[in-house]
Formats: sequence, C-alpha cells, structure tokens
Amino acid sequence: MQNPMPEKLLYELSAHGRRGVRLPVSDVPAAQPLPKKLRRQTDAPLPEVSENDVIRHFHRLSNLNHHVDRDFYPLGSCTMKYNPKINEQVVGNANFAELHPYTPTRYAQGALEVLYELGEQLKAITGFNAVTLQPPAGASGELTGLMLMKKYHEDHGDRKRKKVIIPDSAHGTNPATIKLAGCDVVELKSGDDGTVDPEEVRKAVDDQLVGMMITNPNTLGIFESNIQEISKIVHDAGGFMYMDGANLNALLGITYPAKMGFDVMHINVHKTFSTPHGGGGPGAGPVCCVDALEPYLPTPIIRKEEDVFFHDWVRPKSIGKLQGFYGNFLVLLRAYTYILANGKDGLEDVSRAAITNANYLRILLQKDFALPFPDRCLHEVVFSADKQAKNGARALDIAKRLLDFGMHAPTVYFPLIVHEAMMIEPTETETKETLDRFIEIMHKISEEAMTKPEFLRDAPYNTPVKRLDEAAASRKPNVRWTAKS
Ligand SMILES: *Cc1c(COP(=O)(O)O)cnc(C)c1O
Repeated sequence: MQNPMPEKLLYELSAHGRRGVRLPVSDVPAAQPLPKKLRRQTDAPLPEVSENDVIRHFHRLSNLNHHVDRDFYPLGSCTMKYNPKINEQVVGNANFAELHPYTPTRYAQGALEVLYELGEQLKAITGFNAVTLQPPAGASGELTGLMLMKKYHEDHGDRKRKKVIIPDSAHGTNPATIKLAGCDVVELKSGDDGTVDPEEVRKAVDDQLVGMMITNPNTLGIFESNIQEISKIVHDAGGFMYMDGANLNALLGITYPAKMGFDVMHINVHKTFSTPHGGGGPGAGPVCCVDALEPYLPTPIIRKEEDVFFHDWVRPKSIGKLQGFYGNFLVLLRAYTYILANGKDGLEDVSRAAITNANYLRILLQKDFALPFPDRCLHEVVFSADKQAKNGARALDIAKRLLDFGMHAPTVYFPLIVHEAMMIEPTETETKETLDRFIEIMHKISEEAMTKPEFLRDAPYNTPVKRLDEAAASRKPNVRWTAKS
C-alpha cells in the first residue's frame, strides 16, 4: 500500500510562535536598515513549525513519490540503478562539497586529481585517448561531439558537409542535437531484426556527410553486430562515427566503443555510473574522442606534469568553453567513486548482471507480452502491448496500473518503431526475487487487460495522485502552494 496523503501540509501545521531553530544573539553591529519603502509591511506567511514537524513533513513527501530506494524502477534507457550510499559519503566531504570554483588550482589539486583520474578511467573504459568532462548532460555531450566533428571538417577546408545519419530507433535528443548544431537529419529505417543494415548506410553516405550518430546496443537493447562495417562505410565517405553512449551498462569491461570504429562519444555518468537523476538532473555527459578530434575539445583540458595538475587553456582550435567552471563536479565525483568502488572486475560484473537480468525478463514476460524483436538483448528489452491495446488497455494504462503495486513503470512509447512500446531496463542491482515479483505483477496486469480493460483505463487507484489529465498537467501545471493567510 502507498502512504495516504499527509493529513496536513506544512503550512497547516503552523502554530504561532513554534520554532525549529533558535538563533544566537547577534554579535555583529546592526546594519543600516533598508529604506522603509523596500521593507515589507506585514510578516511573510511562513509556517511556524518545530524541527520534528519539518523532518516528518519531508520524510512523508519523499515517500509519496516513487524513487529507486523505495522499489523497482525499470525505466528503460534511463538506467535507474541503485545509487550506492558511499557516493554520498564522499561528496559530503566538506573538502569537496565546499570547494569554491574560484579557488586557485594550486589549492584545488585534490579536485583536479579526481577529474583527471576520472578522465583516465573513462578513456580506459571507452578505448579513446582524449576526454572532456565539461558537458553537464548527455544531450550536451552530443552537441559537443557534433561540434567537434563539424569543426574538424571546417578546419580541413570542407564546409559543405551538413548531413548526419541516425537510425529511426534513435533517442529524441539525437535529431534535436543535429538541428541545434545546424546540420540536417538523415533518418534510416531499421532492418527487420531491429539493427541498421550496412547497405542502407552505403546508400545514404556522400561527400555532404558530417557523420553518423548511433546508440550501441541500440534503443531496442540489441547489439549492432555490423557496427565495424558501418564504421568503415562512414569513414570511407569522410564522415565520423558518433556513439550515443548514454548507457554503457552492457559494455563495461566486455568491449569498448573505440574498437567498434567510433571516433567520438558521450557517456551519461549519471546513468551508468550512478547518480540520483530523476526529475531532470543534475548529470554529466563527458565526451571521449580519437586523437584527430582532440585539438577541438572544449577549453580548458586538465593536464598533469610532474604530479601537478593544471588547466591547459592554450588550445587555439578548441570549440571554446561549454560549461562553467569544472562541469557538474559532484556528479563526476560520484562517478569516480563508483568506478573505484567496483574496480575493473566489478564493472564487468555490473554489465554481465545487467544483461542477465534483462534477458531473464525477456524470456519470462513473453508469455504475456509480444516481443517484436526477439533476439537476445543486452541491458534492456522492448516489449509491445499491442495485444492488450487491441483489447482496450494501452501501454500507458498498463504503466499506470503498475504504480498501484508500488513499482515504477517502464518507459512507454519509445523507441518509436515499436507499437505500444514498453522499454524495460531492470539494471544489475535488482535481485531475482524482485524480478520475479515484477513478472508476477505484469502477468496479473496483462490478465486484467484481457478481461476488464476499462478497469486499467482509470488506474492508478492506490497512489496519492490518481490518473492525471496529462495534456492539462503539462500545459497548465499547478505546482505552487499558496498560503491562505
Ligand atoms: C538519457 C539518454 C540521452 C540524453 O541524456 P540526458 O543526460 O538526459 O541529456 C541520450 N541518449 C540516450 C540513448 C539516452 O538514454
């Protein structure tokens, strides 16, 4: 059962004179008061509550929402894995958390060392020689990568190149990034097995090509087994291969993108290397690349000489600065902690377990849901709720009904090439018992969909907020509490 709505909100608990903190008597001289016209005439309507009230209030709120510390969160492509608490211990260290971004680098050697060493780890994981940690999200990493590719072509006097190829299974950020970078999208239809056919790539390339962006394993969770051939076709046409490496969960320690022929990629460290990232952030999308693109990386690059770390700003061909200061430093620190805590063998175990878990669901959910691309999957699997939809309960209704059982829904309606898509990514951090419980719940929901679909159309029933009008919720959001004083 979900928690019921709290009986009272914080403002309603307010009682005149109740206090959570007692401020010490001021020992500094009183400042000049603000001019009268700038001062408020009445007290601000703040809640007057005890510390206990506040703690209970926020604790209650945290449990009204779904989160990965509460139960299963199989949101495909988003990699909602358990976030180890050692990450929080490390980032809570005041030497990191309170370091001012303007601290001279000679007094910030520890932070620079963390960033430098994380860069080295990401290079080893991806097989590339160069890295920037600046981009603050995956989409921002994509833009960085495309700008590097474009700048290379321009720098080589080749200004006509505008085309970027993506498969029709691409994540929505890919075409958006291509447009933002001032390029044109060329979309390829995926083959019957869900992967890109090299012959289609051959037909699409010409001397206008900037490069190709592709996710591997792709968004169906299937490995692009022709990737080396595809890379060769793109390279022969003078283009670059960009890997959308938002999720590296299937590759760690097993293979690496440089070996597949990629030239540049981003990594969502908030997905693969664990940072709480619901609600849109914060994240970090480091970009790794081959030597040919290195001169164009954003300034500054962190370098090390005789055990001293410093910023290298002298980079005449750089695309410039991408993000303030060090990027999202504490997200990067969490990623570094996660990598060190797991070690090389541990990271390989992460990927093997993620793949095993997804395939376990692939096999056992097939009795209830259609699997349009039935090949062995990697870290995620995409089902179709077509049969249930034809009976009147769509993927959205199934997703909403799952909430009644205290689990988060999978990603629905993505990738776009699957009807009534349900994209499930269990991650490596779930036990067999949790997966079995999920399979059992999905079976029960499928039965409901086939016997009483109208019941699902009003789900959820047990959550603090019931079925929303999603169009109105996004067009006319009402997210503000106003005190009625
Ligand atoms: C999450 C994701 C992105 C975008 O990453 P953000 O950090 O949300 O900008 C891009 N591509 C794929 C495949 C993703 O899963």
